Amino acid sequence: SEVVIWKEFDRAKLYTADLESGLHYLLRVELAAHRSLAGAQLKTFKDFVTVIAKLFPGRPPVKKLLETLHEWLANLPLDKIPYNAILDLVNNKMQISGLFLTSHITWVGCQGSRLELRGYPCSLWKLFHTLTVQASTHPEALVGTGFEGDPQAVLQTMRRYIRTFFGCKECGEHFEEMAKESMDSVKTADQAVLWLWRKHNMVNSRLAGHLSEDPKFPKVPWPTPDLCPVCHEEIKGLDSWDEEQVLVFLKQHYSRDNLVDTYSV
Ligand code: FAD
Repeated sequence: SEVVIWKEFDRAKLYTADLESGLHYLLRVELAAHRSLAGAQLKTFKDFVTVIAKLFPGRPPVKKLLETLHEWLANLPLDKIPYNAILDLVNNKMQISGLFLTSHITWVGCQGSRLELRGYPCSLWKLFHTLTVQASTHPEALVGTGFEGDPQAVLQTMRRYIRTFFGCKECGEHFEEMAKESMDSVKTADQAVLWLWRKHNMVNSRLAGHLSEDPKFPKVPWPTPDLCPVCHEEIKGLDSWDEEQVLVFLKQHYSRDNLVDTYSV
């Protein structure tokens, strides 16, 4: 039977280990299901790399690796790229210049009480929340990418990534339905932060009580009152959100300043 070694962590913090393990999984496992990338798939991957290269608030070697990958893709004269070329770049060419992305999976804030629970999908949510927050607090980072001034830049890129590459196809279909319904109504970068928060809570409530739920991490409306008391208000005896406070909370929770490197190699 499996042994899970529990790591103590703080639910109010964001862990570098989760975001970097997620990126490792995305680049070396999820993408590996595609032997080569071409056409719309390649465009989706390029846009995704552009967005993370500009907005990922990680440690310098990882940021530099993403920036190098971005430049390499942008300057490539090919309309079809074998996956092995991407892997070779990430694993070999970049390490020569000291650029390094962990190849160990260490889940901290995304650890599950059993090995098959949480992990990668949790890290993907955290990554995208972090990117929407960065786009609203550091809009200048997207200047020159073609995404500048586009309030839906992160959401639309995420939407295409999920639809094209996310291993959970059923999740992709559910997310596409929500996107079709209301993503177009997002007019500012702050609204994008709140849109993703709202939709994530809808997913949480849909999945509450499912087999995929970790009993240690029940699916509840988030942030819970212990994380953000002022996010909750009572209107006529009913619990409801103070969205202005939720936005303030999300911008703090998913900021660079809330990222801690504990457990990162
Ligand atoms: P997660 O829901 O993964 O959340 C991770 C962390 O984000 C939480 O621990 C919390 O710190 C924070 N968080 C929670 N809620 C919010 C919020 N509203 N806003 C901001 N931060 C929040 N699984 C299915 O079975 N069916 C699906 O259709 C499905 N669709 C998915 C769609 C997408 C785009 C993604 C990324 C995942 C989807 N999943 C789906 C997986 C599922 O949502 C969870 O990721 C998985 O069950 C692990 O849950 P978790 O307990 O780690 O919490």
